[in-house]
Amino acid sequence: MPPLRKSLGNALIVAGVVFLASLFGILTRPYDFLAAFWPANALLLGVMTRYPRLASPAGWTAAVVGYFAADLITGGGFLVTLWLTVGNLTSVVTGYLLFRRRPETDLHLQSPLSVLRLFAICATASLAAAVVGSGAGPVLFEKSWVEGFWLWFATELVNSIVILPMLFTAPSFSAVRSSLIRSPAERKFPWKKAMPLLALAASVVAGSLVGGPGAIAFPIPALLWCALSYNLFTSALLTMLLCSWLMIAISAGFLHVPLMDDFMYSMTSLRLGITLLSLGPLTVASINRVQNHLLERLHDAATRDSLTRALARKAFLDRAGELLSQSVAAREPLTVLMLDIDHFKKINDRHGHAAGDKVLAAFAAAVSAALREGDVFGRLGGEEFGVVLPRTALPEALEIAGRLHRGVKTTPFPLKGGGTLPITVSIGVASQSDSAATSLEALISIADEALYQAKKSGRDQVADA
Ligand code: GH3
Ligand code: MG
Ligand code: MG
Repeated sequence: MPPLRKSLGNALIVAGVVFLASLFGILTRPYDFLAAFWPANALLLGVMTRYPRLASPAGWTAAVVGYFAADLITGGGFLVTLWLTVGNLTSVVTGYLLFRRRPETDLHLQSPLSVLRLFAICATASLAAAVVGSGAGPVLFEKSWVEGFWLWFATELVNSIVILPMLFTAPSFSAVRSSLIRSPAERKFPWKKAMPLLALAASVVAGSLVGGPGAIAFPIPALLWCALSYNLFTSALLTMLLCSWLMIAISAGFLHVPLMDDFMYSMTSLRLGITLLSLGPLTVASINRVQNHLLERLHDAATRDSLTRALARKAFLDRAGELLSQSVAAREPLTVLMLDIDHFKKINDRHGHAAGDKVLAAFAAAVSAALREGDVFGRLGGEEFGVVLPRTALPEALEIAGRLHRGVKTTPFPLKGGGTLPITVSIGVASQSDSAATSLEALISIADEALYQAKKSGRDQVADA
């Protein structure tokens, strides 16, 4: 798309988001001064922070147009609109400048302190907006400055803390699409997976039945369970839904919480309390994400060969042993391939060890690409690799081995100074159904013997036992 059309399109998106969100805020406004639900600022801040390419002069201008258009078409005066827009933008720009200084891990809530940092930034941005915007209270709405200040501060803080975690952790469109393709819908309802969610729903109902000031904290244990069970985005989404529900339920009287005489003061205090309560489950979800990520990396480091990304020797042998036991029990065939690159020593000698390493990595990538899902590929040492083909008898295994052999031979292995290296591989094949071998060691040793025969017969070929 041409750059001008692209930036116009981006500006239109920004203007549209701000316009619709502002309209939502204005139309659901219960008081004559400021809206209780004002998602526009948090949405704009979230979008600008996550997609900095939108934060261009055109993007910011589009945001101003969005704020103005929503206020003007709903009958707002020009001065009021101008003042409120400046207040709104003060919050968004302050938040944007502060978030921009934070690393990616913080923005995605993937460091232990990131939720508290998000809180500190939102509180600063809300404070700045309240200072700028609250003057509109006495001048334009016959409200006291203090009233305007607290209402603006609280509304801004509540909306940003409820909305931003969800926006910052939302998966990209491509990630959602590929996960939908990978995991077809389950036929049976996943009760075990749904338990934390059901507990959350039950605790919300219990809170509504019991009522009283403590009822707002009833769902917290279930929300913590959700935070420990689901991914970060789902937890942020559930936290947002719960906070919104509590705020609506209290305003509409579904949840009986005793309020003080000053209704607005009570509501503001309650909204702040509900939002701050959500920081605990959000932090738990964030730390859980950090821990799971570390465990995945640790597991990866322990089981994968760092150069080729194939399974490391022990992990390969363990997995191969499991698959063999399953095959024997199910009376299904299973085949093992042993692969050894031909004359690899010469590659190292002629082109250096680093070039040899690159060949090993490219070789492993070529083999992995030619294997099926469920096949297991590991590096047994040096330039020797193993493959386990579950549910595969000898004829099909020989076809697969032939495909691997041809794939390696036709893959260009580029050299640093230009040109390519011709690489060939010898493969030994042993099928569990065609031999008496029921132990992995025995099967591997038969495949090794076949590999030795392939080498002896001139290399660059496939041989079976
Ligand atoms: P053949 O056709 O008989 O298999 O000959 P070959 O030269 O491939 O066999 P040999 O097993 O004698 O040599 C393997 C070489 O692989 C020896 C060693 O220096 C090299 N090697 C082992 N591990 C690595 C590695 O991680 N990186 C590099 N670059 N070379 C490695
Ligand atoms: Mg070797
Ligand atoms: Mg070799």
